[in-house]
Amino acid sequence: MSDCVFCKIAAGEIPAKVVYRDEGVIAIEDLNPQAPTHLLVMPVEHFATLRDVALAANRTDRLGATLIDVASRLGSEHGGDRGFRIVVNTGADGGQTVGHVHLHVLAGRAMSWPPG
Ligand code: 5GP
Ligand code: ZN
Repeated sequence: MSDCVFCKIAAGEIPAKVVYRDEGVIAIEDLNPQAPTHLLVMPVEHFATLRDVALAANRTDRLGATLIDVASRLGSEHGGDRGFRIVVNTGADGGQTVGHVHLHVLAGRAMSWPPG
């Protein structure tokens, strides 16, 4: 999608610190980290929300599961030996500000609950 910042990052048109990449998934460091480790795991292909990924499951060969697999592995490997958190803000009330689905991976400190 031409005006999507994460599509531009996936295409290499906007720089980012890439920590993982394969043909379908990219993981970058968040520009405004909320924990010692704060990664964003996303599909290379544009999907607006997690719901859109789920609706495309027949075509995308379990992309949702792949995103969770990558996020949990990176959480473990990037400071999450004592645990980590995966967050998917979805839609306006969910606090989603970038309309290209992404999993936040937060690690390196104890997290509080409930979220705001
Ligand atoms: P959301 O609010 O949609 O759940 O999360 C969007 C995240 O993307 C925020 O944590 C924000 O800091 C991050 N972000 C926004 N623009 C950029 C960017 O251009 N580069 C990187 N690396 N992160 C970004
Ligand atoms: Zn996009």
